[in-house]
Amino acid sequence: MERTKIAGVEVSRVGLGTWAIGGSEWGAVPETDAVRTILAAVEMGINLIDTAPIYGKGRAEELLGRAIREHGRRDDFYVATKCGLNWSDGRVVSDSRTKRLEIELEDSLRRLGIDTIDLLQIHWPDTQTPVAETAAVLAGFLQSGKVKALGVSNFNVAQMQEFEAIAPLASDQPPFNMFEREIETSDEPVLPWCAANGIAVLTYSSLCRSMLGGRLEAGMKFEEGDVRRVDPKFQEPRFSQYLKAVERIGALAKERFGKTVLEFAGRWVLDRNGVSVALWGARKPEQLIDTKGVMGWRIDADTMVEVDGIIAECVTDPVGPEYLTPGVRQA
Ligand code: NAP
Repeated sequence: MERTKIAGVEVSRVGLGTWAIGGSEWGAVPETDAVRTILAAVEMGINLIDTAPIYGKGRAEELLGRAIREHGRRDDFYVATKCGLNWSDGRVVSDSRTKRLEIELEDSLRRLGIDTIDLLQIHWPDTQTPVAETAAVLAGFLQSGKVKALGVSNFNVAQMQEFEAIAPLASDQPPFNMFEREIETSDEPVLPWCAANGIAVLTYSSLCRSMLGGRLEAGMKFEEGDVRRVDPKFQEPRFSQYLKAVERIGALAKERFGKTVLEFAGRWVLDRNGVSVALWGARKPEQLIDTKGVMGWRIDADTMVEVDGIIAECVTDPVGPEYLTPGVRQA
């Protein structure tokens, strides 16, 4: 497993994402499968586990806590969790008011059963609370010793600059995969800015929420409660456009590198300049075996260009992950 550092601490370049393990947005996940998946990750040298209070509304954090206890060695885990969302009135909204952040920190520590969180990330910017105010609260968490490093997620460059002026910023967590590249292509791209400022980038949806897994086919139905039922990428006629691109990229990966499209997708993320860690969503231990094929090789520049050409030809009606954006709270 390749390694990198976040605020001086060594972490695996593939991190386990526990959104699905929460069991609410990707269909039910039996508790034993969830815990076995986390333990399998650690066995394979994946120490960075990304979670959040919203994943299963506390369940993913509780299951990670259970896995840490079963494993027995807290230091084998780099626990990255989040704060700044509220779902108390049934609707998920950004909420980084001081009181909310304080409650979330204590709730997370309790659910995880640990004394210190390795990385606490603001899940989404709260446009109604000044970033500087949020950063000051998190700086207090650092000083208290309950949190070792601070991160953000889904922030733009201006928001990160505002944060950094008040508190040390260790990381950002944006969406990023072959099909979702805003952090490279927007007017003020996040990825080069993070690289230039020494901020670790943990990419989410690295497998494009399974689109790049190589196991999907046109016409397939997702379970009740599975987020892919509403994800616009997974609806026709777009779904077939993306699947065509996956098929062609898969053929290229096999012919040139002897790799599956999934292995190629993971490597593609890790090979982009500025990416520190690719998060890999899994809910069964077997799904992590493929992370081995992501390690120890590289994608050359010509192949990168060829991939861009395939995507441009196949995906004529692209769409991003914006549907994931939480609501704005009532003032
Ligand atoms: P992802 O990693 O892009 O895709 C995960 C899905 O890919 C899995 O649920 C699985 O789907 C499929 N997959 C995994 N291993 C596979 C394998 N070996 N073969 C075939 N398919 C495989 O999805 P993600 O959950 O969006 O992102 C990963 C993590 O990023 C999350 O768990 C979470 O920690 C984080 N995240 C953060 C944010 C944020 O706002 N900060 C947002 C989204 C996600 P099936 O189980 O259906 O096969």
